[in-house]
Amino acid sequence: MTSAPRPMTLDEASAHGTRVTLLGTAGGPPWWENSDRSGISTLITVNGAQYLIDCGEGWGPMFRKSGTSTPGFEHGIDELRAVFITHHHSDHTVDYPNLLLLAWHNGSNGLKRPVQIHGPGDRTVLPPIFGQREHQPEVFNPDSPTPGIEESTHRLLQAYATDINDRMRDNAKQDLSEIFEVHDIELPGATGEDPNGDPSPAMEPFEIYADENVRVTAILVDHRPIFPAFAFRFETADGSVVISGDTGVCENLVTLAEGADLLLHECIDLDWVSSLMGPGSPKPDPYLMQHMLAAHTSTDQVGPQAEKAGVKTLVLTHLVPGNTPREKWEEARAGFSGDFYVGEDLMHFGIGTPAPDRAAATVPAALGGQMGRELVGDGRR
Ligand SMILES: [Zn+2]
Repeated sequence: MTSAPRPMTLDEASAHGTRVTLLGTAGGPPWWENSDRSGISTLITVNGAQYLIDCGEGWGPMFRKSGTSTPGFEHGIDELRAVFITHHHSDHTVDYPNLLLLAWHNGSNGLKRPVQIHGPGDRTVLPPIFGQREHQPEVFNPDSPTPGIEESTHRLLQAYATDINDRMRDNAKQDLSEIFEVHDIELPGATGEDPNGDPSPAMEPFEIYADENVRVTAILVDHRPIFPAFAFRFETADGSVVISGDTGVCENLVTLAEGADLLLHECIDLDWVSSLMGPGSPKPDPYLMQHMLAAHTSTDQVGPQAEKAGVKTLVLTHLVPGNTPREKWEEARAGFSGDFYVGEDLMHFGIGTPAPDRAAATVPAALGGQMGRELVGDGRR
């Protein structure tokens, strides 16, 4: 049996066939005061091939800073194999255009095959209007108000047509469609899902991607009213990593995460929510509070969820708010008997058993041993 994943330097992590790097750990669109957490994004590296999950604000600069990007002019994303988007909230996608448009200049020369992008498809119906309003909001872009990743990508590229035509005509750049292949994640038939009903009916995980390094499965989670919202599981020869995406307490997440080596789980600070809208706050609003907590997993809920799933290591990420002090997040270990860490930007985790020879071969020289030293703690109680 392999040991539980723990934070380590990039040097150490690179001795593992599979490693996980937290590029950004803040959730939510606000710029959190007194916090320098980047927007939510995670990188998994398997045998040197790279897999990016979500493109929150700053993933690109953090990828470079992490020491895991490919060194050399115009080679940064040479090893990027696939990208997975959990759901269409802007804090998970705002730097997706950065990936598409800068790829020409930071990796397309060295990419060995098209990068595969997988994300949620069209919601198909608008979400209900929440709360009592004097005026009903106009539908934005009524011809296509809830596009999936394929259409979103197409529209984003249209918006940049001036640049794209310039680069192709003036700099002889290749067609972007040769660099990226984009896929709406198809839901398995007969799951009975209803976007405005139960967004995460009980189901089995289903495969959305596989190559020689990794098999990726997905499951619907409860981030109402967003639909579809996915959690992903990455299975490699070294072990398993689960990323919760955004979700309230959800049985499907437990199903997906069962026995995983590492669970990266979102978390919202219950006391912060209470201070904004709970009883005794300046604007108490029990209905809004319930609405918010249904879509996220709070500090008192995440430990029991991880315990139920029987994972070895639980790491909090997508922290809302991003400026809650770390000591406060530590409370979320309650109810979990495995190893627990509060995620920090640029933390690395090695999965499975290290093979010391591997490190020298795969660590880019620049930042090898620098990251993570101050982040390494003792996860056990
Ligand atoms: Zn979200």
